[in-house]
Amino acid sequence: AAPLVVAVSTSISAKQGLLIRNRADFEGARNLNAVVFDKTGTLTKGEFGVTDIISESSYSDKEVLQLAAIIEQNSEHPIATGIVKSAKEKGITIGKVNDFESITGKGIQGQIEGQKVNVVSPGYVNSNQLTYNHLQFNKLSEEGKTVVFVLVEDRLAGMIALADIVRDTAKEAVAALKARGIHSIMLTGDNKKVANWVAAQVGIDEVYAEVLPEDKAKQIKKIKEKGWRVAMTGDGVNDAPALATADLGIAIGAGTDVAMETADVVLVKSNPNDVVTLIDLSKKTYRKMV
Ligand code: ADP
Ligand code: MG
Repeated sequence: AAPLVVAVSTSISAKQGLLIRNRADFEGARNLNAVVFDKTGTLTKGEFGVTDIISESSYSDKEVLQLAAIIEQNSEHPIATGIVKSAKEKGITIGKVNDFESITGKGIQGQIEGQKVNVVSPGYVNSNQLTYNHLQFNKLSEEGKTVVFVLVEDRLAGMIALADIVRDTAKEAVAALKARGIHSIMLTGDNKKVANWVAAQVGIDEVYAEVLPEDKAKQIKKIKEKGWRVAMTGDGVNDAPALATADLGIAIGAGTDVAMETADVVLVKSNPNDVVTLIDLSKKTYRKMV
């Protein structure tokens, strides 16, 4: 009878917006006791808007945004999309960039009219011992805003703060997991303060922040070694190795192709709450089969 049950559950899962790519791992979902979520694009919509610009005295806010937009125009990161959109809304001309390259998990850089310009993370700025207004930075981060730094020839030109939108369904998902005795964890490349703010909004149990893309999979391995049977939920290229390392890899449908191709299950509706739908469905399917 198993094949029939499997066929029926496949059609049920399709109706519920689950694309099951790996049957065996999906069935194993009934044994999970921890679920890891990426932050940007998974717990949040990954739709950033610029909220604050803090420029150094020799630059105007507009110039800082313009420099950032020129550099970001070729990046696919949600931060880049937010900066470019905001510059366009303000009628800022987005000129030419040369030698554009990304600094994985830390930002990007390029040349504008012969000058090196970077848009980078707090981690990058701290490790290069650049001075900035920590009071302002902390205030923005504690409001849950992601702050990036604009550097010209390795000197600070300004900070840009961006706000993302937390998915309503992320909170429901975490509460439903808790009700089932399942531990929830956040794994993000973003700053600790922002990560903690989003975690508090959503009710996440444990947070790993400032994790570089290459370390996300290593962190999953460590969580497994602690004895957790863990699912990883993510949307980005940088999440793919972690999706492959987890007991169950879950991709957000609105995410990147790489994430979807690596995952065992795709949440077609991009609804984090469907993590719970899938765990419940795996339990039901298994009960029918035995
Ligand atoms: P996440 O795990 O939240 O999806 P990423 O690993 O993609 O985050 O990025 C980590 C951090 O690196 C970002 O929070 C940001 O500070 C910085 N960063 C990455 N890409 C860019 C970019 N294109 N522009 C500016 N900052 C970036
Ligand atoms: Mg992401």
